[in-house]
Amino acid sequence: MNLSSVHRDLTQINKVFWAGLSEGKILVQTCLTCKKNQFYPRILCKRCQSIDLEWKEVSLTGELYSYTIIHRSPSKEFFSDEPYVLGIVKIHDDNNGSTVEFFCELVDIDHSDLFVGMKLQAIFPKEGDTHVLAFTKSN
Ligand SMILES: [Zn+2]
Repeated sequence: MNLSSVHRDLTQINKVFWAGLSEGKILVQTCLTCKKNQFYPRILCKRCQSIDLEWKEVSLTGELYSYTIIHRSPSKEFFSDEPYVLGIVKIHDDNNGSTVEFFCELVDIDHSDLFVGMKLQAIFPKEGDTHVLAFTKSN
């Protein structure tokens, strides 16, 4: 998928996440008060509103929670990629029992092989001048 034409706002809050992708890492915020992880990056915890957040690396493997196959993209930038798959991938953190979800593209998977619960592996394709998060079938 060509995301190079998609507008991406780099902020003081989300730039750590994007920098992590360029190093092959998924970084999420974890709350030092309630000990839960969250994504997307925010200025405070979405559960307890604490501002005591720090960044942590999570696993590069996750599980498919849901997906859809896009046959007619609403954006002309993606017409050449049709059909493509978007999914919600859950990554569980064994250290604090927290789960974070990512909405992103699933690549190099035969559509007939897709199923909820399948194991997925993060990849970091370069789109334009930045790396993005996508997932593919785990071995
Ligand atoms: Zn919290």
